[in-house]
Amino acid sequence: MPEEKDQTEQLKKIKEEILGLTESPLYGERVKNNVFPVIGEGSHDAKIMFVGEAPGENEARTGRPFCGAAGRILDKLLEHIGLDRKSVYVTNIVKDRPPKNRDPMPKEIELYAPFLDRQIEIIQPEIVVTLGRFSMDYLMRRYGLESQVKGISQVHGQVFETEMKYGRVKIVPMFHPAVACYHGGQLGEMEADFEKLKEIIKIEDKNEK
Ligand code: URA
Repeated sequence: MPEEKDQTEQLKKIKEEILGLTESPLYGERVKNNVFPVIGEGSHDAKIMFVGEAPGENEARTGRPFCGAAGRILDKLLEHIGLDRKSVYVTNIVKDRPPKNRDPMPKEIELYAPFLDRQIEIIQPEIVVTLGRFSMDYLMRRYGLESQVKGISQVHGQVFETEMKYGRVKIVPMFHPAVACYHGGQLGEMEADFEKLKEIIKIEDKNEK
């Protein structure tokens, strides 16, 4: 397990690098709108990391991930399985808000994703839950699961095992919580996926004992 002090230092370094990321096509938007990048939030010892797409308006205004409407859905889902948000780590692939919440562009993902890779290596989660197709697509391809990448409606709630530098990790793709903001009916399906996550956590805990 990494030293807490080192982890904090390394995460601070990531934050500083992102703050100074003037080469990002989204940097100008950040300055123009007087908003913040969203680095990530939660426990540095988290066993579970949630990875969304990119900050929205509320997130860029506050610098906190998932603190708007989609965040309220995420909170509800965490509550549904009794998982304390403080015990997990929540971040995104793209750390600055794309204008009008448009989809992140490939070159933006390429620029910001190495920061996510470093966050994963520092925090060393056992389970990475991808929220939405962008983080699923990036992380599955990045960690040798490209042959199993399919549409999110086909793979949500499934478990994909991969090897990272620090050990075995389970990648669990889920729908993006914003989906439930637009399609209320989807919440039940998302709750079912979170119930599966609860089972996976129980198995991991048992294996550790
Ligand atoms: N949507 C995301 O993907 N991330 C956030 O932080 C907020 C909304």
